[in-house]
Amino acid sequence: MPRPISATLSLSALSQNLNVIRGFAPNSKVWSVVKANGYGHGISRIWKSLSATEGFALLDFNEAILLRESGWQGPILLLEGFFSPADLITIDHYRLTTSVHSDWQIQALAQANLSQPVSVYLKVNSGMNRLGFAPARVSDVWHQLRELKQVGEITLMSHFATADSVEGVDAQMAAVNLAGQNISGPRCLANSAATLWHPSTHYDWIRPGIILYGASPSGQWQDIAQTGLQPVMALKSELIAVQALNAGDRVGYGGRYRAGQSQRVGVVACGYADGYPRHAPSGTPVWVDGVRTKTVGTVSMDMLAVDLTPCPQAQIGAPVELWGSNLPVDDVATAAGTLGYELLSALAPRVPVNTV
Ligand code: PLP
Repeated sequence: MPRPISATLSLSALSQNLNVIRGFAPNSKVWSVVKANGYGHGISRIWKSLSATEGFALLDFNEAILLRESGWQGPILLLEGFFSPADLITIDHYRLTTSVHSDWQIQALAQANLSQPVSVYLKVNSGMNRLGFAPARVSDVWHQLRELKQVGEITLMSHFATADSVEGVDAQMAAVNLAGQNISGPRCLANSAATLWHPSTHYDWIRPGIILYGASPSGQWQDIAQTGLQPVMALKSELIAVQALNAGDRVGYGGRYRAGQSQRVGVVACGYADGYPRHAPSGTPVWVDGVRTKTVGTVSMDMLAVDLTPCPQAQIGAPVELWGSNLPVDDVATAAGTLGYELLSALAPRVPVNTV
């Protein structure tokens, strides 16, 4: 018998999430963001369920090549562009669209010997201060690119830092509008949060990531609970042992949990080497045998412990969901002081994955 842990991916939820997203931005084309191996879901497992998308966005060349070689013929956008001039050979060969955020990339394009013009996403630093040209420079850079025979269509691109708050895009939108004053052509700005909550950002293309996978860009499940978005990944396990504690007994490394009274505790075959967050404190929600309970003690490499007080009937073999449709990954992430993004993309390679 294999160790009783697995992740199940609902491919119908994934396709349905793309439809829900289109409902929010009906006039925009969609770059489905599948970086970090499809936010941990596995590009090769999921891309066909998203094949109604207009394009896939990611950042690793090996992921772009995997998508091409798996049969995806449509656009592929490199969100961080290229990392050395030699990458332009790959971009040309696999017909990739690249973002351009730094002067050296323009020089590399100018010197490249390409078989066809490459589509470029010109990245504006509208306030996040990671990648991109300052708004005041964008018009010059756009005209510089326009002159190059190596460059085809140019799309203006920027990325929002706080689109999950009410006024979270205003300053960055002002910067993009300044940058784009003398520029024609398409724009691509919206991530998941802007797709859901800031229709003024939608323009020609949107770039949703986390909502494709049915988790919330704000970290709060209730912010998306009514949208029709559904979790794609369920991380499931079972109880592999049950302990009867007396008052004062401790659980796990460091003895950090101490039973206040006699109590049943279940041991689950899931630990941080499976991708469960080690820093999730006692009290993190877990679904066990049909009810929501909580973890007790420190998460180990291969196991964690749960309070069985709310499920006195639960025995060895009882089903456990660490996150999924019974327990939003956002709730687990909130308890662990992180976001669903991190938990999903950290699913460990040793966890077997099924698709349904
Ligand atoms: N666009 C860019 C440039 C990104 O880096 C990301 C992810 O961080 C996304 C879009 C998708 O973001 P989200 O998953 O919040 O929709």
